[in-house]
Amino acid sequence: MADNRVPTVKLLINGKFVESQTTQWRDVVNPATQEVLARVPFATTDEMNAAVASAKQAFKTWRKTPIGARARVFLKYQQLIRENMKELAAILTAEQGKTLPDAEGDVFRGLEVVEHAASIGNLQLGELANNVAGGVDTFTLLQPLGVCAGITPFNFPAMIPLWMFPMAIATGNTFILKPSEQDPMVTMRLAELAIEAGVPPGVLNVIHGGVDAVNLICDHPDIKAVSFVGSTKVGTHVYNRATLNGKRAQCMMGAKNHAIVLPDANKQQTLNNLLGAAFGAAGQRCMALPVVILVGEAQSWLPELIEKTKGLRISAGVEPGTDIGPVVSCSALDRISSLIATGVEQGATLELDGRNPEVAGYAQGNFVGPTIFSGVTTDMTIYREEIFGPVLCVLHAETLNDAIELINANPNGNGTALFTRSGAAARHFQEEIDVGQVGINVPIPVPVPLFSFSGSRASKLGDLGPYGKQVVQFYTQTKTITERWFDEDDVSAAVNTTITLK
Ligand code: NAD
Repeated sequence: MADNRVPTVKLLINGKFVESQTTQWRDVVNPATQEVLARVPFATTDEMNAAVASAKQAFKTWRKTPIGARARVFLKYQQLIRENMKELAAILTAEQGKTLPDAEGDVFRGLEVVEHAASIGNLQLGELANNVAGGVDTFTLLQPLGVCAGITPFNFPAMIPLWMFPMAIATGNTFILKPSEQDPMVTMRLAELAIEAGVPPGVLNVIHGGVDAVNLICDHPDIKAVSFVGSTKVGTHVYNRATLNGKRAQCMMGAKNHAIVLPDANKQQTLNNLLGAAFGAAGQRCMALPVVILVGEAQSWLPELIEKTKGLRISAGVEPGTDIGPVVSCSALDRISSLIATGVEQGATLELDGRNPEVAGYAQGNFVGPTIFSGVTTDMTIYREEIFGPVLCVLHAETLNDAIELINANPNGNGTALFTRSGAAARHFQEEIDVGQVGINVPIPVPVPLFSFSGSRASKLGDLGPYGKQVVQFYTQTKTITERWFDEDDVSAAVNTTITLK
């Protein structure tokens, strides 16, 4: 029986935050303490259909709202997010576990997309060619698609919803958002601020749930496009189901990102960057660096990497000075611990074992400390699977080309980074590496919203990425208009249009 003293997460349907009538609820749990923060509903089919119906109705007027009016909603929205940054970060840390500075970073990276959405007037311009034939002009309109939907993962509950609905709405669509059921509270606070900023009723709707909600989004005939971020298994299902139903889909999925360290790299900068990218946010970033390939002499840096890692502080995200917070759930902790055990069984050398750390004041938390394996080979489970925890696999290569070959043989293509002082090596790497987002002495090369997120190969399905220029194409249909106007006294109509257009 549900505990009625715990607050409930609301649905957003037609501009109103409403209580679900469902009988199916899930607890939202603080991963540092196991405190139940809220209960999230699995919306009923009627509620989800009502959300889509309200989005369909709202599209009739929103699509014709002047572009400046749409832009001004996002100018106001970015201001509200800035004003509420501390509160948003605190909610995020409580339900997700990442440190407060990381939580602010999560909100901030989403805020940058909102700022970009405010310049939609420039982004949604069509093209015009004058006199493509005698007296004929051709131009394009980038028109919104209708009702679009987004499905988001637990690891960036502010940034990733903000990758989706601001650009979809700014381009004139209406939206159904389904946040992760593990940490929906900061997403709901962002939805409240969006309504306060002036997003009209029905333009943004939020439903909650799991498999049924996702399948309804993929199947509903009134939903035209689906944006998904999450694991490869679910993303592949969403892509196949949505596209079979004739929808546009873009799916950003799992990763196994590699760093290459050349012996000429700036040693201290490189080691510090590796620590942040492998263990920050408890390794729960799709652009984390869970694999490092030490090339040649750089292999001798391993002891120093291990020593530095030992200095990282594990505690609750709210504690000042914390480097590594808890992982999101007890089941995530079990999964990571069992993968570490598998690594040992399969013969990797466990240089640093982060299992069962003592964390003063947080005995119940889902903590796993930084863990380092050396002697990892590409057939091992810890190399092949996405661990999504603070576990670093160290591999060796004799040359840069050997390391590039290794990365290109991995099915994933989300992100990668090279550490070197050699411009020639860097240029060779960026040319030859088959990965969507490449960092040169930049450990987590997530592009700012002037560009688009551009994972590739098994990390992505669909041609167009989220945010940036590509997403304007994703959320719009290009209509090409060819027009000619006759003078009143022009009577020279020809039967053969080909000749007329010459
Ligand atoms: P997930 O795939 O478990 O969940 C994502 C969404 O799918 C959630 O909203 C969830 O409710 C829904 N879902 C879960 N299981 C489902 C099922 N069986 N059928 C239908 N829907 C289902 O992912 P997660 O654990 O929340 O997030 C972590 C994953 O997301 C990692 O694999 C990570 O690499 C990936 N990720 C990728 C990117 C990227 O840009 N490539 C960014 C962030 C996270």
